[in-house]
Amino acid sequence: MQYPEPIAKLIDSYMKLPGIGEKSATRLAFYTLGMDTEDVKNFAASLTAVKQDLHFCSICGNITEDDPCPVCKDQSRDQSQILVVERPRDIMAMERMNEYHGLYHVLNGTISPSEGTGPMDINIPSLIDRLKQHNEVKEVIIATNASMDGETTAQYLARLLKPAGIKVTRLAHGLSAGADIDYTDELTLFRAVQGRTEM
Ligand SMILES: [Zn+2]
Repeated sequence: MQYPEPIAKLIDSYMKLPGIGEKSATRLAFYTLGMDTEDVKNFAASLTAVKQDLHFCSICGNITEDDPCPVCKDQSRDQSQILVVERPRDIMAMERMNEYHGLYHVLNGTISPSEGTGPMDINIPSLIDRLKQHNEVKEVIIATNASMDGETTAQYLARLLKPAGIKVTRLAHGLSAGADIDYTDELTLFRAVQGRTEM
């Protein structure tokens, strides 16, 4: 027996999410069926809104409702530092820490030889343009994750930027190997930023 089409479609949609197999997707679909109509409507509206109302900031690559994003527009932030992260949610982790007041740049990925992702496939060209246009940037802090691809990306950026006379630093170890920035607690993150070392 087949599930009615609306349920089957919903199961298919849930299965497109990372880490959700058929069993979990089926459970979620039936859970959704049992939810309040109002909650389901809000859920559907949020799904549509993240695609319709959010854009990438044309300067830093963060997700934003306004372009440029509030951080790029904020002249009170330290314009001499750019902290480079893999994903927008890493910025949220840094901002929660409330100890970093410079600018950001979101790569939206990493260099990954195993996945065939090169420097031109992520926001590295826009970082280079940005550094060319704003020579007040004195330090680029690389906060890619402590994974193999994160490390490859950090090394690539250091080789690229150091000859241009920019100080390139990397978050201190203490982040365990493979650790994602956005799952790291605030104190560990604070120590990693404070103890950053020159590459
Ligand atoms: Zn921005």
